[in-house]
Amino acid sequence: MTRAPVCCAAPRCRVHVAKGQWFCPDHWFSLSDRLRAALGATWRARHVAAFQELWTEALTVLDPMPRRSTAPTIAFEGEQPVVYASGRLL
Ligand SMILES: [Zn+2]
Repeated sequence: MTRAPVCCAAPRCRVHVAKGQWFCPDHWFSLSDRLRAALGATWRARHVAAFQELWTEALTVLDPMPRRSTAPTIAFEGEQPVVYASGRLL
């Protein structure tokens, strides 16, 4: 079974990545060391819940201002929107 080329998972990024990679190098290395290490560790440990939380955080970091979202921006710090990547209130 052959797979179609996979694109970088970062929002709006069209760069093709190798099988088994999540992001193109630009996006991957724009994540913090902590986040990259934690993503790899939780993935290898098959720790799905923790991985998904980190994954959401990574995508939020890479796309701080999603254009399709209808949710209002909660706050700004200077030019940067304040992003709540973790600690969701449900
Ligand atoms: Zn990318």
